[in-house]
Amino acid sequence: MEPLGVPVRVDAAGNLRGVYPSAQPNAGCLLIGSHLDTVPNAGAYDGVLGVVLAVALLEELRGRNLPFGIEVVGFSEEEGVRFGTPFIGSRALVGRLGKELLEIRDARGISVRKAIEEFGLNPEDLPQAEVKNDALGYLEFHIEQGPVLEKLNLPLAGVEAIAGQSRMQFTFLGRANHAGTTPMDLRYDAVAGAAEWISVVERAAQDTHGLVATVGKIEAKPGATNVIAAEARLTLDVRHSSDDIRTRAVNNLIRLAQEIAARRGLSVTHNTLLSQRAVAMDSFLNQQIEQAMLKTGCKPHRMVSGAGHDAMIMAERIPAAMIFLRTPGGISHDPAESVAIEDVEKAIECGRHLLDQLAASPEFHQRTTRA
Ligand SMILES: [Zn+2]
Repeated sequence: MEPLGVPVRVDAAGNLRGVYPSAQPNAGCLLIGSHLDTVPNAGAYDGVLGVVLAVALLEELRGRNLPFGIEVVGFSEEEGVRFGTPFIGSRALVGRLGKELLEIRDARGISVRKAIEEFGLNPEDLPQAEVKNDALGYLEFHIEQGPVLEKLNLPLAGVEAIAGQSRMQFTFLGRANHAGTTPMDLRYDAVAGAAEWISVVERAAQDTHGLVATVGKIEAKPGATNVIAAEARLTLDVRHSSDDIRTRAVNNLIRLAQEIAARRGLSVTHNTLLSQRAVAMDSFLNQQIEQAMLKTGCKPHRMVSGAGHDAMIMAERIPAAMIFLRTPGGISHDPAESVAIEDVEKAIECGRHLLDQLAASPEFHQRTTRA
């Protein structure tokens, strides 16, 4: 960003930030960014493409200043790989990188606070990382990380909402016994009960529009070939853009687990690991994004993001929106992750139209930070 005359600073959470000035003094600021960190064995585009696109948009202005400033943000930590807690970078901007989060430790016992200090930063400066009250909105370009846009043959989409999620653990309890001597009608097989429920989970999600439900992990005890399992421990991940539909689905799956367990003479317990509400993206920004897509020659399309993003955190404080780019093969979090150059061109063109529209929009100017 230095050739553009934009000084870059590192805030106390390690986020890279630079403000491209507005044409007028005391004008508000539009934030554009994404995250710089990634996962092990990752691809090259998840996160960082959104940061590069933000810089590319500044280049596209060719020295022109808009009625608002543009702050480019490269978030330091989004994936949660090191500390098991995601969005550490963006939480700092909304004032939620607090004491509790600073004490979380990585696998080597190093706390977030210590990591920040070892990086040469001061956790006491975190309040200065917060977005100012003149922030007008947050825009994030990100790869879709799924197969939907490719299937629809569209390069770009606006994001309607980021799905809420429930993460749970279920334990079916039966009775261990000899796999050879116990007749089929005299068994209390925890794994068989769990298996019946897993297929019910899949069907329930297939039958509800927009619902995704996953049993991603199963563990059997005692866990031997010739022993009927006494215990089956499973995880459940349920996501939907409507919290109401998600909550109802979860309650239904709990009831079905209990029914299956009762019929088989088993018991089942459950506990909730995470219950996160859906986050709507800003409707004004989404309308503007759709207009910009039309000008770019793209059919406007809106979709729900099944994955969490920094935009979800930023939306707590300021109007936020996202633009997804088609992900070839839907492959992400893998070295085979890619994007088409033409789609990146479309994203830049769409972003350029969007900035011009916002520059001309009185409604955008009058916006102040949500209380
Ligand atoms: Zn990402």
